[in-house]
Amino acid sequence: VTFYDLGLSKQVLQGIEMMGYVLPSPIQEKAIPVLLEGKDIIGQAQTGTGKTLAFGSVLLSSVNKKDDGVKALVLSPTRELALQIDEELRRIGKYTSLSIVSVFGGSEIEKQIRSLKKGADIVVGTPGRVLDLMRRKALKLDCVEWLVLDEADEMLNMGFIDDIETILQTVPEDRHTVLFSATMPSDIKKIASFYMHEDYQHIQ
Ligand code: AMP
Repeated sequence: VTFYDLGLSKQVLQGIEMMGYVLPSPIQEKAIPVLLEGKDIIGQAQTGTGKTLAFGSVLLSSVNKKDDGVKALVLSPTRELALQIDEELRRIGKYTSLSIVSVFGGSEIEKQIRSLKKGADIVVGTPGRVLDLMRRKALKLDCVEWLVLDEADEMLNMGFIDDIETILQTVPEDRHTVLFSATMPSDIKKIASFYMHEDYQHIQ
């Protein structure tokens, strides 16, 4: 199986080729077709398994620039991970015209508000800052089609549960949800059963 067999868009395949990747990692081979089919997933995967490209390639293949508003929201526990995801999405999406904006604490909020105003197709952010921007009406989530919770167990460990639940309750109900977590504590299972489509697939 190569990346060409998975159903990704031509532009994304071009990006992946430029990155020099030929063969999908196991998590990519399993997750990408399921996500493109429209099913939610819980991916049990650590950093280094290629999880960012697993969801990133699907978001960048599926999101349609023509529709207004933020179409995909990726939540990350830390600013460092948000920046890594942002960088990887830009590489994968090099040949798409999709705009990516990242938002996190410890960085000027006014600047992030200005970037969002210019139009973001995909937003990557930490839960606290995402919520702050939502409350300031600088970030609207009513068009979100894809929600990614990356390192969900870390986000819970860091005390973001209330923020995450607020965000989960704000995004449209008929979105796709992708949850990555290295461990599967009961809190994660609870989130899955409450906020994800019943037929979600567990991939590891
Ligand atoms: P991640 O697990 O998303 O943090 O990815 C770990 C690293 O592996 C990143 O630098 C990716 O760019 C790289 N990577 C992702 N997918 C592949 C692949 N199919 N082949 C080789 N490297 C990859």
